[in-house]
Amino acid sequence: MQRRIILSSGNAHKAQEIKSILKDLPFQVVTKNDLGYEDLDVVEDGNTLRENALKKAEELHKLTKGIVIADDTGLYVDALNGEPGVYSARYAGEDATYADNNKKLLNKLKDVPMEKRTAYFKTVIAIVLEDGRKMTVEGICRGHIEFQERGNRGFGYDPLFVPEGRDKTFAEMTEEEKNRISHRSNALKSLRIKLEEALENPGNK
Ligand code: IMP
Repeated sequence: MQRRIILSSGNAHKAQEIKSILKDLPFQVVTKNDLGYEDLDVVEDGNTLRENALKKAEELHKLTKGIVIADDTGLYVDALNGEPGVYSARYAGEDATYADNNKKLLNKLKDVPMEKRTAYFKTVIAIVLEDGRKMTVEGICRGHIEFQERGNRGFGYDPLFVPEGRDKTFAEMTEEEKNRISHRSNALKSLRIKLEEALENPGNK
């Protein structure tokens, strides 16, 4: 039977991105929703992306058989001393929508000139293997925050974020363009290397 990677994310956009980046690995990639665990809602109360990612992966690992991966992402804006960071999902409040968060960010940056609008996305991915071994990897994508939203693809802060050396926001890019350079794909590239190493060395706990 083909081995399975289970994504702890219930976010359809993210799951789609991750599936497309991992599609040539010899694993079946499924989400927790595909397995009927859509109600598993882990509280992301860690102080770091790493803590949150590990917590999400460990909770799902207790319930399933397979390799579990969970990611946590934050947007770090230099002019705001790294805000929203680990609070990116709830920047404008507990039930904030993507639009609310983007509005708040634009408002906070309204007097900040273009050359000071640098920012980066960081993704931490936690992996729990079938035997309980745990690892984390991370990926970064640097860029800047625009003065207004542009594009309708992607999700979250994508309409505001232009990666370094590009003119388009992530939301103006196709999925393939974004996946070639994104924080998440950079983290997934490291994950592939670690995963291959770990699977070749089953004894290394
Ligand atoms: P999460 O912890 O990975 O769910 O991400 C936290 C928040 O960061 C999300 O609610 C989004 O607003 C934002 N986010 C995560 N990944 C991306 C991305 O690839 N593009 C834009 N925003 C993102």
